[in-house]
Amino acid sequence: MAKTTEYRERAGAGRAEPRGASRVTRTTCAVVGGGPGGAVLALLLARKGIDVTLLEAHPDFDREFRGDTLHPSVMEIMDQLGIADRLLRLRHSKVDRFTVETDTGPFTPANLSRLKTKFPYITVMPQTDFLEFIVAEAEKYPSFRVVMGARVRELVEEDGAVRGVRYEDEDGPHEVRAALVVGADGRGSRVRRLAGIEPVKTSPPMDVLWFKFPREPEDAEGLVGRFARGHIAIMLDRNDHWQAGYVIPKGTFPELRHEGIGELKRQFAGLIPEYADRLEHLTDWRKVSLLSVESSRCPTWHRPGLLLIGDAAHVMSPVAGVGINYAIQDAVSAGNILAGPLRESQARLVAVDERHLAAVQRRRELPTRVIQALQAQVQKNVLAPALGSGGSFSPPLLLRLLPKIPILRDVPGRLIGYGVWPSRVR
Ligand SMILES: Cc1cc2nc3c(=O)[nH]c(=O)nc-3n(C[C@H](O)[C@H](O)[C@H](O)COP(=O)(O)OP(=O)(O)OC[C@H]3O[C@@H](n4cnc5c(N)ncnc54)[C@H](O)[C@@H]3O)c2cc1C
Repeated sequence: MAKTTEYRERAGAGRAEPRGASRVTRTTCAVVGGGPGGAVLALLLARKGIDVTLLEAHPDFDREFRGDTLHPSVMEIMDQLGIADRLLRLRHSKVDRFTVETDTGPFTPANLSRLKTKFPYITVMPQTDFLEFIVAEAEKYPSFRVVMGARVRELVEEDGAVRGVRYEDEDGPHEVRAALVVGADGRGSRVRRLAGIEPVKTSPPMDVLWFKFPREPEDAEGLVGRFARGHIAIMLDRNDHWQAGYVIPKGTFPELRHEGIGELKRQFAGLIPEYADRLEHLTDWRKVSLLSVESSRCPTWHRPGLLLIGDAAHVMSPVAGVGINYAIQDAVSAGNILAGPLRESQARLVAVDERHLAAVQRRRELPTRVIQALQAQVQKNVLAPALGSGGSFSPPLLLRLLPKIPILRDVPGRLIGYGVWPSRVR
């Protein structure tokens, strides 16, 4: 790509931008991807006076069918940043237990209400609102810059190290040079692919179809899950509508699609008959989004000058909805470990030593492995039998006994709420 040498200084953080076809800017940390992981990391670094440029491919944060759950550990992180109270002024609902209705009656495998925290519940808030809030907070710091509609296409590499990225926005091509590039660009990470890092994948036994339908004020609140006749339905209360997930055995979507949207409505209404009439508007497959469920983890999360966090480093199964929680905890660990080295880079124009990047992976890999192993057990012992049952399904004995054993009953709630070895903002 052609580079010019004629630069025009931009306000803030001593950045420079050339005139001409290809513009080059400089920053200390370029974060690719303004999802929960990238946005929170950018905020954490900006608070510490580190120049950070957040590049987000989409022109806005509006996203349908994404995780909208903020677990207690995330809310505690928001509290440590002094922004939890303001965040909770945004429209949200609270879910403090997971109740699953089965053919043998309801049971509650996880209850967060007894957790010893200011936030003993899952905060359900549209991800759009959360991301806009975090970026607005980051914009209060002069060392923060966000570029929306910036699609990262290439890495800038020199002497075997990553030194920046090239992206395109509506003005054409740009280059950002940085002491560190963080790939927080999600499950299909382009940065990961460009860096030649290959995730090791496992394939959980299911896929999920997401759609929405209207919610009336007198409806149930929070989270509803129902297992019956080989099917699983989940519904998340989104105030004026339900976000519904219909879990199907992996790879069976083409068959269902062939049968028609009416068949999806019939099957779902069979599980949730009380809302059958609300499915009327579900008239074509464009209103349904397929989540091909996967679980994966990269063997290495870094290269010289580059770190992966969040879904780019590990895709979590949707069991217990911990993807956002884990992406944000990665961001907090990265912020804690890298703030000092990045400040040093900023002051002395030196690269960030890869040992610090390896320390982020060491801090976050074990918690990720443990939760992925537990999710695999739930998939194998609960979800696969439920999807394959055809007739009545009863949860395994251990799961049914757990809520009745005082010293064990809070373990699932704690694991869902915090994960393993939660990160705190330093
Ligand atoms: C349908 C669905 C439902 C889910 N439900 C839940 C849930 O209930 N609870 C939960 O915790 N998790 C849930 N998840 C998972 C959760 O959304 C992810 O784990 C979480 O968003 C990961 O955060 P992240 O910041 O790592 O990546 P992402 O949120 O994926 O963000 C990546 C960002 O990078 C941007 N990007 C991608 N490529 C480029 C590029 N080349 N250049 C610039 N920017 C780029 C994307 O536009 C995106 O904004 C769900 C996921 C899906 C798909």
